[in-house]
Amino acid sequence: MRVTLKNDFHNTQCKINIPKNGAELTPRQVRRIKTTLCGVRGCRCGNDLGIRGRQDWSVRESMKQSGEMFYTIYNLFLYD
Ligand SMILES: [Zn+2]
Repeated sequence: MRVTLKNDFHNTQCKINIPKNGAELTPRQVRRIKTTLCGVRGCRCGNDLGIRGRQDWSVRESMKQSGEMFYTIYNLFLYD
């Protein structure tokens, strides 16, 4: 499914494709979201990914046992 993440400070949005609700973002998607939503160095407008403002989708940051961080994207109002 196609998902849109937004930043209402820079007025940017990033569309990504995920296989299902509750998918783990790939490192490539994470990089693309960061640079598309807020590519400004040192800017503190949003969170880690540059997401800011009202969203249809939530992104949760978690840590693997290895200590590596990853992001899961999900929609609470969507069941599949
Ligand atoms: Zn910014």
